[in-house]
Amino acid sequence: MALYFISDLHLDPGRPQTLAVADRWLASIEPDTTALYILGDLFETWIGDDARDPAFDPLFVRLNDFKARGAQVFFMAGNRDFLAGPEVARQAGWTMLEEPTHLDCYGTRVALLHGDSFCTADPDYQRFRAQVRNPDWQRAFLSQPIARRRELARIARQASQSHMSQVTEEITDVDPEAINAFMRETGITCLIHGHTHRPATHEWVLDGTTRTRIVLGDWYEQGRILRWDAHGPNLLTVAPGSQ
Ligand code: MN
Repeated sequence: MALYFISDLHLDPGRPQTLAVADRWLASIEPDTTALYILGDLFETWIGDDARDPAFDPLFVRLNDFKARGAQVFFMAGNRDFLAGPEVARQAGWTMLEEPTHLDCYGTRVALLHGDSFCTADPDYQRFRAQVRNPDWQRAFLSQPIARRRELARIARQASQSHMSQVTEEITDVDPEAINAFMRETGITCLIHGHTHRPATHEWVLDGTTRTRIVLGDWYEQGRILRWDAHGPNLLTVAPGSQ
């Protein structure tokens, strides 16, 4: 029995290799897996369920197979796929998660987030995030024709790339103070998130208690997975072409 956590696959029909790695990995997971948690940025871009690319259909079939074997599939939106809605949830068979979600991992109280809400040293990004997470903004965006939405998403990606090239590594990483404030507020000892593409396990002491922050990695070069079983959490990689 195990729980799996992934994020930042950035699946894109233009990068079929990552789709293939994800497909092979999903097919190979042990049958007694309890749950798969997808913590955002599964897709490189998602401009509405009505604009879904058929290249993702095999992935949805695979996720449904996985569910049919008894595992639950959960999806939390990231900053690329915050417009993933009820229609894709139905197709993929996943349950949408609010951010943050708290769960018990073999006795450890864990909080799950995409991670971008902790990047508080970057006010420009936080302004953008507040705008696109606003339901009125989302409704207005989704009411545009698909071609127009595609164009707006392309412009937003360019603006984001140019912004990222102008700010330092510290600014685009999570803010340790924001992490500590969250841990104090919630009383949790372990946090799992993605977004920064800096996979690692960080441990430190806060208010006399050891805290753990597990950062999931992206899937640009290889599959990156957190597997948590009765022995604890483990960050793993899946090389392209391997099982
Ligand atoms: Mn992200």
